[in-house]
Amino acid sequence: MNKQQSHCLAALGIPIWQLRKTEEKTEPLLDWDRLQQAVTHCTACSLHHGRTQTVFGVGNRQADLMIIGEAPGFYEDQQGEPFVGRAGQLLTAMLKAIQRERSQVYIANILKCRPPQNRDPQPEEVAQCTPFLDRQIALIQPKLLVAVGRIAAHYLLNTKQALSQLRGHIYHYGHKKIPLIITYHPAYLLRNPRDKAQAWQDWLFVKGQLLASDVVA
Ligand code: SF4
Repeated sequence: MNKQQSHCLAALGIPIWQLRKTEEKTEPLLDWDRLQQAVTHCTACSLHHGRTQTVFGVGNRQADLMIIGEAPGFYEDQQGEPFVGRAGQLLTAMLKAIQRERSQVYIANILKCRPPQNRDPQPEEVAQCTPFLDRQIALIQPKLLVAVGRIAAHYLLNTKQALSQLRGHIYHYGHKKIPLIITYHPAYLLRNPRDKAQAWQDWLFVKGQLLASDVVA
């Protein structure tokens, strides 16, 4: 965390957490209200200059399924909600196809502010912003994480492997070892509709894992 972010949180009276030297992170203390307030006022990276508003996340805070995307685009920045354009409609349709309403899951992004011209997030922006995402995951404690797209997959798995090689496996994220599945970003599928069949296989895999976790629970 840099000085600017520390000052921002201190000004809000919000406790500051630090990353451990190991891969595990300290358990942050922010509740939902304080976390959302911290995101709303965050100026930790330069993306705050261009945003209309921050895009915190949306959905059921007791969800068993959490979807993690990349960063807000134009419509998300305008409306303050992740996945609301055509890509959002496709995500909603894919969820429906596995008998999940959008309102039943929680949806968030790696970055909470829109990068200019929707460029890829920079490593320093990811480093600054992902403590917010990690706290969201810790608060929700979902049974399953689904990373949609290369950027989310690369952050959560700490890898640079091609997304096509990452699909079709179960990974485990964080010290709580939350199961994690990787699939295509819906915006990619809009540009590459031939891969929708593979994405459908991924979502069936997601459905199967959720059913299995219900049986185990
Ligand atoms: Fe803060 Fe994240 Fe927005 Fe950067 S992208 S200003 S770290 S909320």
